Amino acid sequence: MIYLDHHATTPVDPRVVEAMLPFFTTTFGNAGSVSHAYGWEARDAVEAARSAMALAIGASDKELLFTSGATESNNLAIKGAAGRQRRRGDHLITVATEHRAVLDPCERLARRGFQLTILPVDRQGYITPDQVAQAIRDDTLLVSVMLANNEIGTIQPIAEIGRLCHARGVLFHCDATQAVGKLPVDVEELGVDLMSFTAHKIYGPKGVGALYVRRRGPHVRLEPQIDGGGQEFSMRSGTLPVPQIIGFAKALELCLAEMPDEGTRLAGLRQRLFDGLTAAIEGVSLNGPEWDVPGRRLDANLNVSFSGVDGEALMMSMREIAVSSGSACTSSNPEPSHVLRALGIGDDLTRSSLRFGLGRGTTADEIDLAIRAVADSVERLRKLSG
Ligand SMILES: *Cc1c(COP(=O)(O)O)cnc(C)c1O
Repeated sequence: MIYLDHHATTPVDPRVVEAMLPFFTTTFGNAGSVSHAYGWEARDAVEAARSAMALAIGASDKELLFTSGATESNNLAIKGAAGRQRRRGDHLITVATEHRAVLDPCERLARRGFQLTILPVDRQGYITPDQVAQAIRDDTLLVSVMLANNEIGTIQPIAEIGRLCHARGVLFHCDATQAVGKLPVDVEELGVDLMSFTAHKIYGPKGVGALYVRRRGPHVRLEPQIDGGGQEFSMRSGTLPVPQIIGFAKALELCLAEMPDEGTRLAGLRQRLFDGLTAAIEGVSLNGPEWDVPGRRLDANLNVSFSGVDGEALMMSMREIAVSSGSACTSSNPEPSHVLRALGIGDDLTRSSLRFGLGRGTTADEIDLAIRAVADSVERLRKLSG
C-alpha cells in the first residue's frame, strides 16, 4: 500500500512514540495533582511542552491551551468567542472553503440568532483582504479564515486580513491545522487572536490539539465549552492527556527542524506526480492554485480531476494506493466536496477529483507507482464507460 492521504492524518513518527512512552508508565501522574511528586513531574513536563510549542508559534506560555484536536479548538474559538463577547455584536464572517469544523459551529450559531456571512472564493480558492474589509460591519464579532486548505492547498493572505481585523477591532480566528509544521507560522506576524492546530496532521498522536488565545492587545476571553476541574486557564476542563501533549511538542519540534528541506522535497515530488499524471492521462485538470509562485499552495498537496471518470469509483478501483476524493472527514456522505463546489468548477469535475497528500514517508518510487496505478485505472474506467 502507498499512503498518499497525509491531509487526513499522518503516521506517528517513531521518535514521537519514543518521547511519549515514559509518560504512560513511569511519569504517569495527573498534571493537576498538586500534592505529590507524580503530579509535579507530569505538570513540569506539560509546561515544558507548552512553552516550547508557544515559542514555536511566537506566543507566550499562557496563550496556548490544549484540547482534543482541531475540531474542538475551532468549536471553542468560535462558540467560546460568540458566547462571551456578544456585546461586540452578533455578526460572524467566514469562508465557503473552510473545514466543516469551522462552518458547522458558525451555522449552529446562525440558527441561534447570530448573523453569518460566508465569503465566496475565486477559482483557486482565494479570498482577498478587500472582501473581508467590505464584509466587516459595526456589529461584526469574529472573522474566521483558514491558513491552508486541506483539499486544495490554497494559502490565504492571513497577515493582511489580521491587520485589517485589528484595525476594525474585530476578533480574528485562523484554522492553521494544515499549515503549522509545514510553513513558518507566527501569531504576531499573522495578527491572529485565536489559532487552531492538531498533532495528528504533523506526525503526532491523534486526540490532542491546541488553541492559541491572545492575551495582550486584545486579551481574548472565551466562554468554556467544557466545564469541570478548571484546567487550561479555566477555558477547557479535563485531565490533560500528558503522553499526547509530550508527543505533540516532539512532533512539532521535528517538523520545524526539517521544514525547509522537507518542503522542497515534497514540492519536487508533487511536481513529479503532476507531470507524470498529465503525461500518462488525457483530460487531467488541476484544482486549486498553481505553485509557480511560492507560498500560494501547500507543497504536499495535489488535487486533480480526470474528466469523465467518477473519483469515488477511481479511488475504490486502486487497492494499492490510499488517496481521497473529497475530505476524509465528510467521506461518509457522498455529497461532492463543498470546497471544490465553491471554486465553481462544476459538479462533473468535482465528482471526478482525487486529492493526493504527500508526506514524510513518500518516495519518488511511490510516486511513480501511483502514477501507473492511476493511469491504469483511469484507462480501465474510461473503457468500461465507453
Ligand atoms: C484535520 C483538520 C481539522 C480537524 O482536526 P482534528 O484534530 O481531526 O479534529 C480541522 N481543520 C482542518 C483544516 C483540518 O485539516
